[in-house]
Amino acid sequence: MFSVITCIRDDHDWRLVLAAVVVCLIGAMAAMLPLSRAQECDAARRKLWIGASAFAFGTGVWATHFIAMLAYDGGMPIGYQLGLTALSFLLSVIGSWAAILVASRNRGSFSRIQGGVLMALGIASMHLTGMQAIETQAEILYDPYMTATAVIAGALLSSIAFHAFFHLKGLRRLFASSITFVLAICALHFISMASITLLPDPGKEVPATVLDTSLLAAIVVVAAIALILVAIAVVFFESHLTDLRGLANASQEGLLILREGRIIDTNERFQGLSGWKLADLSGKAPSMVLTAVQGQNGPGETLLNTRNGREIAVEVNTSRIVYRGHNCDVLAVRDLTERRQAEEIIEHLAHHDVLTDLPNRSLFDKRMRQALQMAKGKNSEVALFYIDLDRFKTVNDIFGHAEGDRILCKVASILRRVADERDTIARLGGDEFAIIQAAGQQPAAAQKLAAAILDEFAAEMDMARDPTAVGVSLGIALYPADGSDPDEICNNADIALYRVKHGGRGKACFFNAEMDEATRARRQIESELRHAITRNQIHVSYQPVLDAQSGDISGYEALMRWNRPGHGLSEPDIFIPIAEESGSIVQLGEWVLQQACREAARWSDPLRIAVNVSPVQFMLPNLCERVEAILKETGLAPGRLEIEITEAALIRDRDRVMATLQRLRSLGVHIVMDDFGTGFSSLSNLRTFPFDKIKVDRSFTGMLEHDAAARSIVRAIIGLGHSLGMPVVTEGVETETQRQIVVEEGCAQVQGFLLGRPDVEPSIKLAAREGSLASTPQTDDPSMSWRRPTRLAGE
Ligand code: C2E
Ligand code: CA
Ligand code: CA
Repeated sequence: MFSVITCIRDDHDWRLVLAAVVVCLIGAMAAMLPLSRAQECDAARRKLWIGASAFAFGTGVWATHFIAMLAYDGGMPIGYQLGLTALSFLLSVIGSWAAILVASRNRGSFSRIQGGVLMALGIASMHLTGMQAIETQAEILYDPYMTATAVIAGALLSSIAFHAFFHLKGLRRLFASSITFVLAICALHFISMASITLLPDPGKEVPATVLDTSLLAAIVVVAAIALILVAIAVVFFESHLTDLRGLANASQEGLLILREGRIIDTNERFQGLSGWKLADLSGKAPSMVLTAVQGQNGPGETLLNTRNGREIAVEVNTSRIVYRGHNCDVLAVRDLTERRQAEEIIEHLAHHDVLTDLPNRSLFDKRMRQALQMAKGKNSEVALFYIDLDRFKTVNDIFGHAEGDRILCKVASILRRVADERDTIARLGGDEFAIIQAAGQQPAAAQKLAAAILDEFAAEMDMARDPTAVGVSLGIALYPADGSDPDEICNNADIALYRVKHGGRGKACFFNAEMDEATRARRQIESELRHAITRNQIHVSYQPVLDAQSGDISGYEALMRWNRPGHGLSEPDIFIPIAEESGSIVQLGEWVLQQACREAARWSDPLRIAVNVSPVQFMLPNLCERVEAILKETGLAPGRLEIEITEAALIRDRDRVMATLQRLRSLGVHIVMDDFGTGFSSLSNLRTFPFDKIKVDRSFTGMLEHDAAARSIVRAIIGLGHSLGMPVVTEGVETETQRQIVVEEGCAQVQGFLLGRPDVEPSIKLAAREGSLASTPQTDDPSMSWRRPTRLAGE
């Protein structure tokens, strides 16, 4: 250590030593900059930057060595051999390159140590070669231990410098690594210098040194610093340009730069988009690739001709910049293909049904208008088909929406298959489809298409075997015969469809004028019924049911009444089927049930209350829960409620209805088979469910007096009831003779106008009677009037 200090102090010109250290620092920093850049870029560039770094480092090391040698005063004049000096420079650069390359590998500290060792060996070989280049009248003797120490110190410090470089960030990285490298280089150099002894050898031939050492030193310093500064400038410049070009290439827009109307540059995006290379384009007018370019006023749309002959829709924005020192135009070219596709998809979605991809209502409306307009112009005809699926809602409820979707797709494919390609098939919503048939002689063409649709459905949808098969109903209206505008035609096709649905389904029906009136009236009732409850137009009448033997009232039947504005009291036989079709029976029926239970709960005698429940109400999955809730709410004992069902309730989904009946039964509610004898398979129905009562249909009662067959049917029913343990009621008893006949036949209860008409709430009647009893002991209850004759008959 001491010998090193004395060597620097005694044998060196300190000003030159300082210059060497400064050059060394600049060199090290100049090397660290490109090395930082190398960390940021791709593999191909990284090699380049490592090369630049090694060059700066090697130059710095060599210049340091050379200036330090010039600073050395060994006591005799020293000259330099050119070849070896040049070799030492080469070794310095190559050694640095190898060291930096190895240290840059991703092996953590191990790479840094390897790099440090290589760096030390590189500097040492440069140093020793440089020493060999010295021409002087002396022999240079090396102390091997000191030399080894120099290499070890250099390796150690270089490793630390690499470590600092790869682990620190920003300016700290730059300074810490550069200064440590300066220490490494200086340690290596000066320890080596301290290890040599010059043994004078006057016999050695030395070429005279012509250059003054200070001048030489100045030249080396200036040259080295200039070289290094150039390296630094290149780094900044290059990185700036790379960033700019990177930005231009990263742009989503293709860029064309024009000078005096000719292309001089373009970015990668434009080349990728058009397929043209810069070489193909430069010097050409932009019209070679762009169909038309608008001026500088806003973006313009045009077509880009690609190299492979395609045309792409693009948007071009023009602006002016200064580029390479000249005023230039920049065309920013944006690809509109994706936007166009997106627009097309959105447009398609807006006009098509997602599930079946058929035109939706909005496109249907448009096509309908177009079709009528065309027909008007050409004096031709148009047929509009409204198509409705039978049973679809049930299938959807039972088998789920996925199955429902599958059926809708299948229907769409059937319609596509049978319709002409000039026809428009649309899905209007749910299970409603429509076809606009704009070509052909009507009604023949429509008849043909209708037959084809029905045939195809019959072939594809086997209702007997496939539980998910659906049927189809078609309503057809023609232009101009059935209307002059789209609304009228649509309305009339709908009326025709309505007619099919209420007249058996599974058919096609052309519109005619009579249909119109009937349907309109029905529609009117349908819409009025929807508000009847809230408008207080509905009430319940109560008709007594009497014990056939005693003549005492055993209960009442609740019957719905509709006071329809402008029509008076409307007949249930007319409005109930309509309420069942439209579904409003659900609401109405529940309301009646509630009213009737509330009324019965007021009675002092625990008489029964019979309520009619529509087959449609049995489709509700929660019917049982609703009944239970109403009983709770009104406080009526379940055993006092009789639910009257007709055989129609058992036709559809018999098992489910049976299960509901069982559950109602288990609540304690009584189940009555109403209108018995009119439905299908009456007998089998009686066997499958233990009804609490059977009501003989009133049509038989009316015939009893004159028709022996009617009497024997009633007798048979009563006999059957007896054998099954089900009491029989006869309703519609209007005459005393009828009453006597059914009592003789063994009927348990009777009901009819003779015995009491449907009337206001019994609780009101009772209150009125109690009031009148207080004044006169007379009764005007019609249900009482027959009791006297019966008793008389019995006397
Ligand atoms: P229904 O269940 O057979 O009711 C008995 C019908 O016979 C009642 O007709 C009643 O007024 C009538 N009637 C009673 N005694 C006689 C008689 O001696 N002679 C004649 N000719 N008729 C008699 P209404 O009230 O017009 O009801 C007709 C049908 O409407 C009922 O037949 C029932 O099926 C249905 N209905 C009535 N109210 C409701 C209800 O709240 N819900 C449901 N789902 N259906 C109801
Ligand atoms: Ca009834
Ligand atoms: Ca009945």
